Amino acid sequence: MLIVQKFGGTSVGNLDRIQNVAKRVSATKKDGNDLVVVVSAMSGETNKLVGYAEHFSKNPSRAEMDMLLSSGERVTASLLSIALSEMGHDALAMTGRKAGIVTDDSHTKARIEEINPQAMHDALHDGKIVIVAGFQGVNAKGDITTLGRGGSDLSAVAIAGALKADLCEIYTDVSGIYTTDPRIEPKAKKLDNISYDEMLELASLGAKVLQNRSVEMAKKLNVNLVTRTSFSNEQGTLITKEENIMEAPLVSGIALDRNQARISLMGVKDRPGIASDIFNKLATAEVNVDMIIQNKAHDGATNIDFTVPVNDLHDAKLVVDTFVKSGDVDADSYNEDICKVSVVGVGMKSHVGVAACAFSTMADNNININMISTSEIKVSMVIDEKYAELAVRSLHDAYELEK
Ligand code: ADP
Ligand code: ASP
Ligand code: MG
Repeated sequence: MLIVQKFGGTSVGNLDRIQNVAKRVSATKKDGNDLVVVVSAMSGETNKLVGYAEHFSKNPSRAEMDMLLSSGERVTASLLSIALSEMGHDALAMTGRKAGIVTDDSHTKARIEEINPQAMHDALHDGKIVIVAGFQGVNAKGDITTLGRGGSDLSAVAIAGALKADLCEIYTDVSGIYTTDPRIEPKAKKLDNISYDEMLELASLGAKVLQNRSVEMAKKLNVNLVTRTSFSNEQGTLITKEENIMEAPLVSGIALDRNQARISLMGVKDRPGIASDIFNKLATAEVNVDMIIQNKAHDGATNIDFTVPVNDLHDAKLVVDTFVKSGDVDADSYNEDICKVSVVGVGMKSHVGVAACAFSTMADNNININMISTSEIKVSMVIDEKYAELAVRSLHDAYELEK
């Protein structure tokens, strides 16, 4: 078999753990498999580098950030390769560039455009264990780019797709996908399998166990994806097509996203085209707008509220400022102390009452809902951040997910 194994930050968090990873990789190789290993930076390393940059600037150049942040993954890749060589294996560490990962220009959240896997093929053909520094690629100009936080998951899935690997294993610090973050709700239950679509919703709504774009890519390329722990041999969770899952539960999980900020625009001139103007400018600035609420106009003006990831807040403020200056918007305000809790399940498509249950659960706990959005398979609510954990636990109880 050709297997892609990805090891996250905690799994390579210190030298002993890198040695452990080397042992697991060695065993997989000795079982007769071809192997590409994708690694993250040691845990805390990427945040440390971000902190270094922030020491000098509140808004450092994104291209320089990519140059800086991509270094963490290179450290782990080379250390793992050195450890494997010492164990008698023929291993070769590669940067994203050498692995042929070509992206667009969108520094710090680049999209993979193509993978030229020749170097990986050649090394595999020579019997080598290929080790790839995750999270990074290179744009057409040859500059280093990174794939967004948590992006090593995407590197692994994209490589598995490009090499037509039989299996892509994501090794992390929990033993699979749970009904909610087991660090918030210890009663959370591990799922044996989950559909690509539900996993995509959970990931997009804040369950950082898999980066959302990696799930999107896995679905598109039909990659057999398994999430499991690097600390034991416990079986993980298979992420697969909906039709492979016998009995889809009504609700499969609760997600929490703490990295949201709310922007309120007061006294927005009520004329055709104003919303289009504002949100087009935000899109051009690559700000990811999520929920939007517009109130009924009163005296020719209206209020618009929307949410963005905290990381995009700085760029969003620059755009909003131009509308305040031009007089199209009277005033703006910002709130970072919010979070988004979401209930996800494909079973919702055919059942009523799921949203109502979410709202009454918030009411029973005296939690005020600030914003709501729904789709066929999710209900999301923006609430004050101080209620985040209470909301997750009470929703988990309300839908009886521990059963
Ligand atoms: P890695 O460094 O291996 O990429 P991450 O920290 O990115 O690991 O993701 C793993 C974490 O995701 C877990 O420690 C857990 O706290 C969190 N998590 C959030 N939601 C879930 C969920 N539904 N199931 C499992 N883990 C979850
Ligand atoms: N090291 C990067 C991060 O912390 C990428 C990853 O771990 O997947 O976001
Ligand atoms: Mg991760």
